[in-house]
Amino acid sequence: MLERETVKTIRQWLERSEKVAILTHTNPDGDAIGSSLALALALVTKGIDAQVVIPDGLPDFLRWLPGIERSTTFAYKREKATGIIREADLIFCLDFNDPKRLNGVEEQLVQSEAKTILIDHHEDLICFADICISETWRGSVGEMIYLFLKEVFTENPINNEIATCLYVAIMTDTGNFNYASSYPEIFQIVGELMKYDLEKDKIYSQVYDAFSEERMRLLGYCLQEKMVVLPEYHTAYISLTQEELQRFNHRKGDTEGFVNVPFSVKGIKLTALFVEKPDRIKVSFRSRGSFPVNRIATDHYQGGGHINAAGGDSFLSMEETLRNFENLLTEYAKLLSDE
Ligand code: 5GP
Ligand code: MN
Repeated sequence: MLERETVKTIRQWLERSEKVAILTHTNPDGDAIGSSLALALALVTKGIDAQVVIPDGLPDFLRWLPGIERSTTFAYKREKATGIIREADLIFCLDFNDPKRLNGVEEQLVQSEAKTILIDHHEDLICFADICISETWRGSVGEMIYLFLKEVFTENPINNEIATCLYVAIMTDTGNFNYASSYPEIFQIVGELMKYDLEKDKIYSQVYDAFSEERMRLLGYCLQEKMVVLPEYHTAYISLTQEELQRFNHRKGDTEGFVNVPFSVKGIKLTALFVEKPDRIKVSFRSRGSFPVNRIATDHYQGGGHINAAGGDSFLSMEETLRNFENLLTEYAKLLSDE
């Protein structure tokens, strides 16, 4: 994955570092947190004080991960998080392609004089670090961290805890190997991780069978009342207002995965989820096949992502946002057609 010179430089930087900060993106997912904690735990084996800074909250289904005590949320513990970044000799940025995704933490990054390393798998990367490692064809940054540890560390730091974090990263970013994972190396990496007594089935359960009853009721409500299916465009979408979320005692992370559910309807190629936030509407897109949702997200929703998974924001009302989206589909009618 890395050139020999890059490995040499990173090794020198690590040797000189006592404190390392690892930053990840807003609204972090399993890949963001799993990769960050795996790297932090690996750095700790080298005697480095590595800390993870998350811009906003951590979803409940990731709170059990090994090393979680090494994470600090900027939105809740601003002083501590700022201190971690200020004191770091080296800063890693994981799983995002644009400093805007730091949602407020970018200021602290700009003020730091530390060397920076970006490791990411999104397209349209803005290289804002001293070293940018980008492999857009990979399903997860988890794999990239596995390879990074192999190539940069002279002694293999992987243990059961690190393997668990990496597996969560890979499993979640590929939807449990449903997408973005059709190449042999990802399974070779998972095969290597399995050698560390990985409790694969238990990990699955800890991540995916950990929802509240209210979240399941909210999903039921979405499918019964809110899912709109547009067969002519092979598209289905769901929208949720603040009022609806409150009715189901919504907690952070509850709508995670909802965007994938409409794919169970035969013929659906494009799905969208619109969730009202206090200041905007968060839009998520998913596709099956060659339809590039990152193009819609970039061109119309100030966002980005991958070909089959992307997101962005709308600053219109929910009603207008949905009307615009339906109008937009006419533009993409050819791409969404039957062939
Ligand atoms: P999700 O729909 O789960 O929030 O995000 C799906 C994918 O789209 C993720 O890989 C994420 O990085 C990307 N994404 C989501 N929201 C945004 C956004 O507002 N800006 C950009 N650049 N990417 C986003
Ligand atoms: Mn990722």
